[in-house]
Amino acid sequence: MPTFDPRSFIITSAVAGILCSMIFFVLRRSFPREIGGIGEWGWGCVAMVGGAFLFAFRDTLSPLLTVVLANTLIVGGIVLMHVSLRRFTGLRAGYGWAAGLLLAVAAGLLWLTMVADNYRGRLEFITSINTLLFGLSAWFLFRMKKQGFAERFTGALFAVEALVSLGRFYFALAGQNSDDYWNDNSMVHMFYLASFSIALVGLSFGFMLMVTTRVQEKLEYAASHDDLSGAYTRATFFRMMAGEVLRARRQRRPLSLLLIDIDDFKRINDGHGHPVGDAVIRTFATVTAGELRAHDLLCRYGGEEFALLLPDTALDEATAVAERIRARFSEGVFDGLPSFTASLGVQSAEQGALEVAQMIEGADRALYIAKKLGKNRVEIAPEVGHASGRDGMAPNRPLAQ
Ligand code: GH3
Ligand code: MG
Ligand code: MG
Repeated sequence: MPTFDPRSFIITSAVAGILCSMIFFVLRRSFPREIGGIGEWGWGCVAMVGGAFLFAFRDTLSPLLTVVLANTLIVGGIVLMHVSLRRFTGLRAGYGWAAGLLLAVAAGLLWLTMVADNYRGRLEFITSINTLLFGLSAWFLFRMKKQGFAERFTGALFAVEALVSLGRFYFALAGQNSDDYWNDNSMVHMFYLASFSIALVGLSFGFMLMVTTRVQEKLEYAASHDDLSGAYTRATFFRMMAGEVLRARRQRRPLSLLLIDIDDFKRINDGHGHPVGDAVIRTFATVTAGELRAHDLLCRYGGEEFALLLPDTALDEATAVAERIRARFSEGVFDGLPSFTASLGVQSAEQGALEVAQMIEGADRALYIAKKLGKNRVEIAPEVGHASGRDGMAPNRPLAQ
């Protein structure tokens, strides 16, 4: 059998670790700050590389550095990866328990190196700790609420690493290895070391996938939602509404659209200042969204104007929803905000009989009538063919005001 040189694996994992840490430090600078844990993962790689680097000087440097510090750094790297996962999910880092654990590991290693020089004891000690730490991260990822491919992939790799460490622990216990590190050329030990360098790259790849997926979701959200109100942007709303019209037609279901405009909003801005006006818009959107079903679509249509699409909803039900929203604001008191009201225009279409533009035109006409009739009220779009409205007013508002 060819001789196995553990140094090759140490060098491989060190190079891989350096590259990984560099990628994470670059990502941390360019990705949004609110995505936590990127820097910690980079430092985790650095700690592992440091440990691997020290291993390679086993012949020349003191065991204090090449055994105690080296192994503590490796464990520190795995701990930092776990801290990183916690921060990624928005939890506190938990540096207290991390520091405590590392001190305990260092103390244990110190004793097993300087007091009782025992390679097998050290191996059993370190592999049992690694098993627990890898297992903890795997368990953490599999329990995550929002789990995608990246989380499952990374969790599976952590689980594999836990099993490999457990296997190494078992073989150390069973005494199936040499008592001297450099002469430990057993298949078991080779597999253990190789798995480390692969795990460092594989786990980093998995975490990177988690991070980039999160960034992509954030970008998609920012592109489709208005940042002040959290409602859909116009472009997204029109795209979704076109789909809903086709669906209503296909499934012969009713569809309703509400256009909502906050009354005398200019007065709020002028009397209380722009920030209060902004807070009114935000509150309006949040409270309205709270009144809706999951598949209703709320959009910030303009400054203080919103569009609300109600799939599967006929005129009487849509009018009731509109009236509920109107009453909610006309009767509601919102902390620190001046009282305000809203006017609403309703347009319904049986079986998706109207095009997107026709629905918006109808709802807009109804809203115009509600304003003319004194605001803080709900009006229904005049029948097609009676476009001048019930009081004979012909609004001339451009669609995209
Ligand atoms: P009406 O009852 O007829 O709807 O009158 P109004 O004052 O609500 O309507 P108007 O369209 O005259 O004024 C809307 C104002 O909304 C004008 C604009 O400065 C303000 N506005 C638009 N976008 C924002 C915003 O994001 N924040 C704030 N604070 N004000 C905004
Ligand atoms: Mg207004
Ligand atoms: Mg307006």
